[in-house]
Amino acid sequence: MQKYDLFNGKVNNLLHGADYNPDQWLHRPDILEKDIELMKKANCNVMSLGIFSWSTLEPEEGQFQFEWLDQIINNLYQNGINVILATPSGARPDWLAAKYPEVLRVNADRSKNLFGERHNHCYTSPVYREKIKIINRKLAERYGNHPAVIMWHVSNEYGGDCHCELCQQDFRKWLQNKYGSLENLNRSWWSSFWSHTYTDWQNIESPAPQGMQSVHGLALDWKRFSSDQTIEFYKNEIEPLREISPEIPITTNFMYKYIGLNYWKFAQEVDVISWDSYPSWHSDYETDINRAVDSAFMHDMFRSLKDGKPFLLMESTPSKTNWQSVAKLKRPGMHKLSSLQAIAHGSDSVQYFQWRKSRGGVEKFHGSVVDHVGNENTRVFKDVSELGAELQKITSITGTSVKAEVAVVFDQENRWAINEASGPRQEKKDYLKTCLSHYKNFWQQGISVDIINQEKDFSKYKLVIAPMLYLLKEDTAARLKKFVKNGGTVVSTYWTGIVNENDLCFLGGFPGPLRDLFAIWSEELDALYDQDSNQIVIKDNSELKTGQEYEAKTFCDLIQLEGAEVLAEYKSDFYAGRPALTVNDYGKGKAYYIASRNEEQFLKDFYYSLVSKLNLSKTIVSQLPEGVTAQKRSDKNYDYIFLMNFSQDEKKVDLTEELMEFVSGNVIKDSIILEKYEVKILKK
Ligand SMILES: [Zn+2]
Repeated sequence: MQKYDLFNGKVNNLLHGADYNPDQWLHRPDILEKDIELMKKANCNVMSLGIFSWSTLEPEEGQFQFEWLDQIINNLYQNGINVILATPSGARPDWLAAKYPEVLRVNADRSKNLFGERHNHCYTSPVYREKIKIINRKLAERYGNHPAVIMWHVSNEYGGDCHCELCQQDFRKWLQNKYGSLENLNRSWWSSFWSHTYTDWQNIESPAPQGMQSVHGLALDWKRFSSDQTIEFYKNEIEPLREISPEIPITTNFMYKYIGLNYWKFAQEVDVISWDSYPSWHSDYETDINRAVDSAFMHDMFRSLKDGKPFLLMESTPSKTNWQSVAKLKRPGMHKLSSLQAIAHGSDSVQYFQWRKSRGGVEKFHGSVVDHVGNENTRVFKDVSELGAELQKITSITGTSVKAEVAVVFDQENRWAINEASGPRQEKKDYLKTCLSHYKNFWQQGISVDIINQEKDFSKYKLVIAPMLYLLKEDTAARLKKFVKNGGTVVSTYWTGIVNENDLCFLGGFPGPLRDLFAIWSEELDALYDQDSNQIVIKDNSELKTGQEYEAKTFCDLIQLEGAEVLAEYKSDFYAGRPALTVNDYGKGKAYYIASRNEEQFLKDFYYSLVSKLNLSKTIVSQLPEGVTAQKRSDKNYDYIFLMNFSQDEKKVDLTEELMEFVSGNVIKDSIILEKYEVKILKK
């Protein structure tokens, strides 16, 4: 496999560091000096600088102060620490808000924000765009060729939307560009329902709690527009960076499960993906194993955004977060395990928010490398320092990637449409959770998975799983069929192929254009109350155990056969005996349709059988114990295998071949023991 070079040759090792906010400490030179000493002790080789520094860099309009930053960057460089330099648009200075109120965001209820907080500016405002471009140009001119600067960190966690008049005007232009005529728009939005036909472009307003909420096409287009507008804002930000320092790669930090942006589209505009991961380990509402699955899914998604190119873990906490409901500390072992989990799935860095705990402000209790005590004698500092030393020993992993034979489709536009739909249940539609429940079975078997949207290429996979693909684009349907015709296997579920990309229901039977692929027709979808359940019973032509029953809850699709073979049927209620699981031979491949939302054990058995049938390659051939996963990164010479135990018990993993412990070089035969929360890296 190819090795990637994220930094155009400037860096060739795993990064370890943090968000560094020296602008909070300029009045304490003793602390700035101590920082450098501690960074070395913590084995850090990178710092992200200037993320919220606008008010220090430009305290008055047009009056710039860079001398402090010169000193910090030079000092870091002289001490062997690289810099990821931020543009400061994530939070603006007060003078900017006071002098140019148009930069303040307007909420969906049309109330206007006051100065404060962060990430709350208008993405359309020409003034905001101009002001950020000026300061970005100055940053690029001053630091774009500094040897310490290895990457641009543009803004911070872009998100949210603005409903001001400037945004409304741009939204109308965006719609005109998309639909051409009002007639076309009205038909695409089905606006004659409830007499919502638009007769003038000027009458179109973004969705509002006191206004329009029931035209789904409008709601969907507003989300697309807001995402596009943010990307346009970002493109405006990076213009001077590209012009002045074209060799410095650009990233912006994405967020966990964030629903407001189409990251797949955004990914095309950045050089390197980075993201901020804050899982709630040891919580009372989710097991560490399920939390690990959830984190793994996100890491795989961010890697898949750029087709396998390694990403950066830009932020994580070395101990706790302060903004979750309970700030529980990471238990011993978890820091190393969760950090190396990111590396295992394709990250080339472990970075933290933040380096030194703030003395005041909203995140003064958020975990950091250096605590208020100000020295290295803490459990957290020791954990961080040991991890940094470990990363130095495994640095040949840098640039390697993951090859997956399986893809799970998790599509952001589909997610928007599912959430917007009124029915068949208002709650527990659980699109993401459903994708996770399918994904978990591959994680548990140590099989690499890509997480893709419906527009990605399917042809490189053996198996594509597309649960609840409610919003189905015509082109996706055609490509899925081609994929199966050529020998691929596809698995889908209830509530697939219901609406087109304008959120209009397919006529002529669900799952719309996929009807012939699955050779079924979905006549009705039964939504169950929480206390309701049905059962599905496995038939004797299936590879699952004949007669085995599984509980079905929440959704039961009542399908008619049009050539598919029945592998299981419902047991009770008025649809007893009707098909609940089908397979259809299509060209050289197969298409499975799971009609109901079944208990976890069903998916476990189903995929266990499918994995062996499709002969999918596993990282470790033998069966992994519960809570243990094996993930793999490769280059053309080696496989780097990460064995990770997220359970609270010691686990034994059987080996069918000799493997070498990466760091020690010791050869391991037969089996390997993993302590609670232990991770071991092997080489093959
Ligand atoms: Zn606006």
